[in-house]
Amino acid sequence: MFVGPFFYLEHTISGTQGLFADFVDLKHAEKQPLGMLDNPVSHQTLFDRLQTNIEYMDIPRGRVIFDPIKHEAVVYMDTCIEEHLSEIVRAFKISNYRVEHDEHYVCPGCWDLDAMWE
Ligand SMILES: [Zn+2]
Repeated sequence: MFVGPFFYLEHTISGTQGLFADFVDLKHAEKQPLGMLDNPVSHQTLFDRLQTNIEYMDIPRGRVIFDPIKHEAVVYMDTCIEEHLSEIVRAFKISNYRVEHDEHYVCPGCWDLDAMWE
């Protein structure tokens, strides 16, 4: 299985469409301060590989990490790309996983303006 950051391109960008990710094998993943295993590649680095003029923030994104305590992957992702979850699960070759949402993975189209003012 793999861990890493990903974007999901609903439209073609620089000849690429669909899942656009950086995969690192679990054996070569980096241990984070809280013990999670992660891929050190940032979304900014991944985005730079697209060589596009569109806005960095506009592309829905997520990240797969591994929780060694529960022995399962954690898929952080934007709600607007959840319909592509099975494709992401296949690409990262994960079996046990849970899906979580986090403010880092929310595109402008998914911003809840009411929640921002609470
Ligand atoms: Zn979104």
